[in-house]
Amino acid sequence: MKQPDLRQMLARLLGPEGPEVGCDACFDELDRYVELELAGKDADAEIPGLRAHLEGCPACREEYESLLALVGGEQLS
Ligand SMILES: [Zn+2]
Repeated sequence: MKQPDLRQMLARLLGPEGPEVGCDACFDELDRYVELELAGKDADAEIPGLRAHLEGCPACREEYESLLALVGGEQLS
């Protein structure tokens, strides 16, 4: 684990100060987010707020997981 939960704790302390990601924005960025993750990049830093949204939004989380399986599966085969 290279990053402890410090960032999450800070986010909680600071409140929604950063860019707020709604479902529409989340959906728009989800492809890119998954690609960054699969490329081993820091997707959370590239697209701030998206991970937090995924953690709080079951619908987008589901979309994210199926996309991850889809794209990841393609790369593996
Ligand atoms: Zn959402």
